[in-house]
Amino acid sequence: MNKNSSNIMALAPNTSNKRETVCIFGTGDFGRALGHKMIQSGYPVVYGSRSTQISNLIPKDAEVLGHAEAAQRAAIIIIAIQRQHYNFLTPLAEVLRGKVLVDISNNLKLNQYPESNAEYLAQLMPGSKVVKAFNTVSAWALQSGTLDASRQVFVCGDDVEAKQMVMNIVRALGLTPLDKGSLLAAQEIENYPLQLFPMWKVPIFLSLGLTAFFFIYCLALDVIHTYIYENNNFSFFIAITIPNRVCPVMALILLALVYLPGIFAAIIQLYRGTKYRRFPNWLDKWMLCRKQLGLIALAFASLHVLFTLVAPLRTYVSWRTSNRIISQALNNKTELLNNTNAWLSDSYLALGILGYFLFVLLGITSLPSVSNNVNWREFRFVQSKLGYLALILCTAHTLVYGGKWFLNPLAYKWYLPDIYMLSLIVPCAVLVVKFVLIFPCVDKPLTRIRQGWERNPKYSE
Ligand code: NAP
Repeated sequence: MNKNSSNIMALAPNTSNKRETVCIFGTGDFGRALGHKMIQSGYPVVYGSRSTQISNLIPKDAEVLGHAEAAQRAAIIIIAIQRQHYNFLTPLAEVLRGKVLVDISNNLKLNQYPESNAEYLAQLMPGSKVVKAFNTVSAWALQSGTLDASRQVFVCGDDVEAKQMVMNIVRALGLTPLDKGSLLAAQEIENYPLQLFPMWKVPIFLSLGLTAFFFIYCLALDVIHTYIYENNNFSFFIAITIPNRVCPVMALILLALVYLPGIFAAIIQLYRGTKYRRFPNWLDKWMLCRKQLGLIALAFASLHVLFTLVAPLRTYVSWRTSNRIISQALNNKTELLNNTNAWLSDSYLALGILGYFLFVLLGITSLPSVSNNVNWREFRFVQSKLGYLALILCTAHTLVYGGKWFLNPLAYKWYLPDIYMLSLIVPCAVLVVKFVLIFPCVDKPLTRIRQGWERNPKYSE
C-alpha cells in the first residue's frame, strides 16, 4: 500500500451522504464504545490494534488492523489509549503526518503532568493536527445511550479545519460540540472530569458544619436541659422536632449568606472608589457559589414545610391537644380565643407561605433551562429584588414566630438564646446594611462606581 497517497487524504469536510472512515487506535473500553456509536451513526470504523485478532467484543462491521495499516485508511485517528503509552506512536510519525489525531485521554489527578495530554501528543507528533475531544463522555454513557448528563463535548485544537471535522463527527453522533479554542484549553478540559461538584464543596461543608452545630445546640437545650431540670424524657424530639427547628434556621441563614457577599462587594467598592480592582479571593469564591447556597437553602426550607405538614400526625402533638381539652374540662374552664395570638399565628403562617413561594421561584429561575429564557434584567429582578423580598418575608416569619419570647427569661435555658434568635443575626444584619445602601446618598456614588466612575482615576483623560 502506498503510504504517501493516504497521507495527503483531503481534510475537507465531506458533503456527500457517505461518511468517511474513522480510525480508532485501541480496542479498549472507550475505543469499542465510541466505535459502536460511530458505526450506528453511519461511519465505517477501522481499529488500529496491537493484536489484529477479532474478538466478539469488537463491534461487528468494524475492521481490526495493525496501527500503520489502519491509519492509512482514514484522515481522522482517534487515540483511545492511555497517555503513558503514547511513545508507541513515534515510529508511526510518517504515516500519521497531516492526519487529525483526536486525543480523548484523561488523567487520574488534576494537573498530573506539566503539559496537557493533547499538548504532549502534539509535541510527539509535530506533523499531525491534534484535536482534544470526547474526554468528558464516558464509555458507559456511550454504550448505554444515557448521554443526557454529558451531551456536551468540549473540543479544542490549533487547526481550525481539523477541529471542524471533529465537531462534525460529534454532531453526527447526536452530541453537542463546544469549541473551547486552541490546544491551550486542553488542560482545563482534561481537569474537568476530575472535578467533583467544584462549586458545591464549600456550600455543602458549610451546611453540614452549621447543621451539626445547631442540631447539638437544640439537643442540649430541648432534650438534655429538659431531662436534667424537668425530668422529662423528650429524646424522641431528635426525629422531627429538632430537625424542624434546624431546617428553617439553616434555610434563613443560607439565604442571607447568598446576599451577604453582595453587601461586602458594595462596601469594598465604595471604600475603594472604583470597581476596577479585584475583590479579595475569598469574596470572589463566595460570589461564585451563591447559587449553590441558595439551592441548599431551598432544600432546607422544603424540608421545614414537610416536617410542619406532618405535625398533626404526631403522637406528641395529639397528646398535647387532648391534654389541653381534658384540663379545660376538668377545671370547667373554657379558654377564650386570644385574638392577638390568632393574628400572630396566622401572620406567621402567611409570611412563611409567601416566603417559601418566592424561595421556590428563585430556585426555578436559577435552573439553566429557565434562566436561558429570561434576559439579564429579568434574571436580576428575580434574583435580586424578589430574592431580597424572600429574605424579608422569611426573616419576618421568624420574628413573628418568636418575637414575644425575646424578653422572656424562660426562653434562655442555660442563659443561651434559642436557635431561631441566632438565626436572625445574619439576615437582620444583611437587611439593615442593604437598607443603608439604598439611601440615595450611598446608592448614587455606588451606581456611578459600577458604571465605571473612579474616585481617583489611574488614567486621566
Ligand atoms: P483501556 O480499556 O485500558 O484500553 C486502552 C487500550 O489501549 C487497550 O485496549 C489497548 O488496545 C491499548 N494499549 C494498551 N497498552 C498499550 C501500549 N503499550 N501500546 C499501544 N496500545 C496500548 O482504556 P479505556 O478505558 O478504553 O481508555 C482509553 C483512553 O480513553 C484513556 O486515555 C482514557 O483516559 C480515555 N477515556 C476513557 C473513558 C472511559 O469511560 N473509559 C472516558 C473518557 C476518556 P489494543 O489492545 O487494541 O492495542
